[in-house]
Amino acid sequence: MTKTYKIALLPGDGIGEEVCEQAVKVLNKCEKLFGFSLQFTHGLIGGAAWSKHKNHFPKETQDLAKNSDAILFGSVGGPVEAQFEQQWNNCEKNSILAIRKFLNLSINLRPAPIFSQLTDFCPLKKEIIGNEDFEILVIRELSQGIYFGEHSRPSPNEATDTSQYDRKTIKKVAQFAFKTAQSRNKKLSSVDKANVLETSRLWREVFEEEAKNYPKVNFESIYIDNMVTQLVKNPKQFDVIACPNLFGDIISDLTSVLPGSLGMLGSASFGDSVHLYEPSGGSAPDIAGKDIANPIAQILSASMMLRFSFKEHSAADAIDQAIRNVIKIGYRTGDIFSGKAGEQKVSCSEMGDVITENIG
Ligand code: NAD
Repeated sequence: MTKTYKIALLPGDGIGEEVCEQAVKVLNKCEKLFGFSLQFTHGLIGGAAWSKHKNHFPKETQDLAKNSDAILFGSVGGPVEAQFEQQWNNCEKNSILAIRKFLNLSINLRPAPIFSQLTDFCPLKKEIIGNEDFEILVIRELSQGIYFGEHSRPSPNEATDTSQYDRKTIKKVAQFAFKTAQSRNKKLSSVDKANVLETSRLWREVFEEEAKNYPKVNFESIYIDNMVTQLVKNPKQFDVIACPNLFGDIISDLTSVLPGSLGMLGSASFGDSVHLYEPSGGSAPDIAGKDIANPIAQILSASMMLRFSFKEHSAADAIDQAIRNVIKIGYRTGDIFSGKAGEQKVSCSEMGDVITENIG
C-alpha cells in the first residue's frame, strides 16, 4: 500500500507562499517517482493568521500542527519598519517561538552547503573556501542553557542569567550527533567552554562517554573560542558540529554566511513527535510578491523533511542532486547571480521548475 504522509503547510508571510509553492512542486514530482503520497493541509501563521484570527498562532493552526506528520514552514514577520503595527508586533515571538515551544522542538539542524560555483558570494578568500563542494552541519540544542534559565536584574547595576543543562538532554543531542556523523563523513566536533563553565564540563563528559559507542567517528571536543577562529581559518576541516544552545546560535550564524545567501539555507527542528522544517532566513518583505526570491532554502528544508521525518532517503537524495545540477548548469536567482558567462538569471518559480525537471 502507498505510504501517505500528512504535512501541515504553513507558508506564513512575505516570500513564504511563493517559496513554499516551489517546494510543493518538487515534492509532488517526488511522490510520482518514489511511490509515496503527500497530503498537504494549508494553515495560517504569523501576520497572515493575524489578518483572519487576530492571533499569530490560532487554535486551528495548533490543531493542524499537532495532528500532522511534519510541518513545512515558510517564514513570518513584516517589514522591520512596521514592527509596531498590531499585525506585526511580536509576530515572530508569538508564532515561530510559540510553535517551537508547542511542539517541544529541542534539536535544531542548520546545514550550510558550500557550492564551488557560488564561492564568489562567500566572504572568505578563495584559497580558504577552496573550489570543492562541501557542507557543514550545525546541530544545536534548543531547549536548555542560558536562554531558558532564570534572568534577573536585582538592581540597575547588576544582572544575572542562569544556564542549566541535564544529562538526559545532552545525551539525546550526543546520540543524534554521533549517528548523523556516522552516516556522513564520520567527523564530529563538539563545542563547549569546559575550561570555565560547569554546564560545559557536563556537556563534554556526556559526549566523551557517547564517543565510546562510535569508534568509527573521528570525534573532538573543541572550545568555542578556538572553534570560531578555526571556522574562519579553515572551515573545510569540519563536517558535523554539535553545540549547546547559546554557542549553536552563534556558530550557526557564522556558518550561515559561507554559502553566500540566506536563500541557500534550509533547517530542521526536531520535537517529541512532529518535526518542523523551515528556511533559515526571514520573510524578506523587501522582495516579497515579486517572484524573485530564491526557493532553494525552502526546497532543501523539504528534502530534509523527506529524509528525517519520512525516511524517504532516495527522494531526498534526488532533490539534493537536482539542486546541485541546476547550480552547475548555471541557473541563478538574483541573490546568487554574479553575471558570469554561463549563468542564467531565473525567477523563483522558474528555479522551482528547473529543479523539478532535474529530479529523477
Ligand atoms: P530576512 O532574512 O527576511 O532578509 C534579510 C535579507 O536577505 C533581505 O535582503 C532579503 O531579501 C534576503 N533574503 C532572505 N531570504 C531570501 C531568499 N530566499 N532569497 C533571496 N533573498 C533572501 O531578514 P530581515 O529583513 O531582517 O527580517 C524580515 C522579517 O522576517 C522580520 O519581520 C523578521 O522578524 C522576520 N524573520 C523571521 C524569521 C522566521 O520566520 N524564522 C527569521 C528571521 C527573521
